[in-house]
Amino acid sequence: MEDCIFCKIIKGDIPSKTVFEDDVVKVFLDVNPNTEGHMLVVPKKHITDFTEMDDETLTHIHHVIKDMKELIYDKLGAIGLKIVNNYGCEQLVKHYHVHLIPVYKEGTFEYPYVSSDNLDEILDKLTK
Ligand code: AMP
Ligand code: ZN
Repeated sequence: MEDCIFCKIIKGDIPSKTVFEDDVVKVFLDVNPNTEGHMLVVPKKHITDFTEMDDETLTHIHHVIKDMKELIYDKLGAIGLKIVNNYGCEQLVKHYHVHLIPVYKEGTFEYPYVSSDNLDEILDKLTK
């Protein structure tokens, strides 16, 4: 879709910090992270929300989420994960995506924001 920022990222017209990619999804770091390693799992097909999505794509996305959970635990030392999809309200980008927001300390999570200065460092930890 022409005016969609995530479609542009998927096409490569806008750069992204790509963690993982296959034929169906692209996973990249969120530019405005809630915690270190906050990433978005995005289907390559432009779909607005989960109500429009076929079961095969939904299943694949959830397999990728499982793999990303392993990566986030192993490489970043997270102890938990917020798996968030904004539907109906607070969805700023109208291309379906799942936020994976690592949690590092029990009982302290209130959707904080952290610096985006170290995205390259985080990407290196996740992909090297
Ligand atoms: P939502 O409110 O669920 O639609 O969240 C959209 C998310 O996309 C926000 O967390 C933004 O920080 C993130 N975002 C917007 N533009 C970009 C971009 N160019 N690269 C990475 N993440 C982005
Ligand atoms: Zn799109």
